[in-house]
Amino acid sequence: MLRYLSLPRTQQPHTCGWVVGGEPCNDVLFPEQFSGHLTTHGIRGNGTTNMLCCWVGCNAPKMKKESVLRHVFEVHLELRFECPDCGLSFTRKTSLNHHRKSKHF
Ligand SMILES: [Zn+2]
Ligand SMILES: [Zn+2]
Ligand SMILES: [Zn+2]
Repeated sequence: MLRYLSLPRTQQPHTCGWVVGGEPCNDVLFPEQFSGHLTTHGIRGNGTTNMLCCWVGCNAPKMKKESVLRHVFEVHLELRFECPDCGLSFTRKTSLNHHRKSKHF
């Protein structure tokens, strides 16, 4: 995995810590594979039902199903989009694009 270390987190593989049957899943996936993978843990659809994040060690209160995916990306995978010009990080790519347009045009 060393060859990935120079890449930003958004391009590195991450370990899934969703607890299934008492054990963390531990699958290693690339960020773009995570949303698909998390549907196998029941995080799918845009339910208004509340559910708990089952990530190992997570104490977050119940949240809407549709928020869990973003929660996992931001809190557990710490996926942020970094500005290559100044290093500021953003949780959404659109925010980064907006920042770059206004600051580094
Ligand atoms: Zn998993
Ligand atoms: Zn969590
Ligand atoms: Zn910047």
